[in-house]
Amino acid sequence: MNILVLGSGGREHTLTWKLAQSPKLTKLFVAPGNAGTAAIAENVAINVNDFEAIGKFSIENNIDIVVVGPEDPLVKGIHDYFLNDDALKGIHVIGPQKEAAELEGSKEFAKKFMMRHNIPTAAYESFTKDTVEAGCQFLTTLKPPYVLKADGLAAGKGVLIIDDLQEAQNSLREMLVDAKFGDASTKVVIEEFLDGIELSCFVLTDGKNYVTLPTAKDYKRIGEGDTGLNTGGMGAISPVPFADVEFMEKIETRIIKPTVEGFQKDNLPYKGFVFIGLIKVGNDPFVIEYNVRMGDPETEVVIPRLENDLVELFEAVGKQTLNEVALTIKDEAATTIMVVSGGYPEAYEKGKEITGIETIKDSIVFHAGTKLDGEKVVTNGGRVIAITSHAATYKEAIKKSYQNIEKLYFDKMYYRKDIGFDL
Ligand code: ATP
Repeated sequence: MNILVLGSGGREHTLTWKLAQSPKLTKLFVAPGNAGTAAIAENVAINVNDFEAIGKFSIENNIDIVVVGPEDPLVKGIHDYFLNDDALKGIHVIGPQKEAAELEGSKEFAKKFMMRHNIPTAAYESFTKDTVEAGCQFLTTLKPPYVLKADGLAAGKGVLIIDDLQEAQNSLREMLVDAKFGDASTKVVIEEFLDGIELSCFVLTDGKNYVTLPTAKDYKRIGEGDTGLNTGGMGAISPVPFADVEFMEKIETRIIKPTVEGFQKDNLPYKGFVFIGLIKVGNDPFVIEYNVRMGDPETEVVIPRLENDLVELFEAVGKQTLNEVALTIKDEAATTIMVVSGGYPEAYEKGKEITGIETIKDSIVFHAGTKLDGEKVVTNGGRVIAITSHAATYKEAIKKSYQNIEKLYFDKMYYRKDIGFDL
């Protein structure tokens, strides 16, 4: 099998690392990749949104499977691009078609999907420029804090949670009338605030059948004690200790099953990962959001816990035979700690030499924003490296990750020292 992975983050390094272990693999490419993927696969300088170049490369290199890491190419329709071309349609694309990718591309689309299929989520209404005053009125009927969500993709910044009514009304006007988030906020979803603890679950589906991957919890804020600005994610643990068997059953029957059945009922073509952001309110799960790809850094803890051959799983997704696959998960906990550039998520410098990577033996070093500069590995992004560890308990795994981070160095490196301490 020849496989092409699209993306350049820690998520893509992890998927590449897992795929590279398969005896079924012949050639493995990553576009554009990072210094970590360069060590185990061949990096190709193609942008993830350049469908024409990706298609051409896939034909020239007899690619059998394209694994799409980030959401952008999915929302833009990369899967459809392959299906609409006679020379490309035999290639399995892992990731939903454009219509189904709207589950992440439009918050209103996702809310309507959940309502239609009785999937528990916060009550909501959506508004446009023309109905902005009705939106302000609707806010007066809710209890604070107020949750305002730009409908479209806004790089994780389009959700505002505001305590004060007037401030919420002003923000609504800014989003709808002043286009605060550009096109992403032509529509705004206002929803009821759910008070609880968050976790994520992951599903791999072929559109008919599915397997449930391990749960994970990520840490979004830059500062310790979950303070400061939102980031792409500063660390994660899997499994989530408070998601016991009974709670997992609720997730399966109330959320996962109706979601996959919903794809079929609505004719939404879905072959790929579903990331379900959940919140546990009391003892009940509610859906906060769907993402149409794996999470980052959650991939760095979920995928290493899989015993299965990932190439085999992706083949089964492509052929819609996932019902024939039994998933085996390692009984160990996994944790990952993200090491970032000083200043992230605001301005930061790139090009700093990273040392000590090769001295880390009992954790896995997943690269995110790194690149090769001659023989050297240098920083090339905000989130730089994720250190994943396994152990019998998540506490031991966290300890191992922290011990190994000490061996790593680059100028102005930063990481949170409290990942998992709240559990
Ligand atoms: P991401 O950056 O994870 O992709 P997003 O921009 O797609 O996020 P959501 O995941 O819908 O947006 O919301 C972002 C965060 O806001 C959630 O992780 C959660 O902490 C909070 N949040 C969203 N909706 C609610 C709600 N109804 N009640 C309470 N908190 C919420």
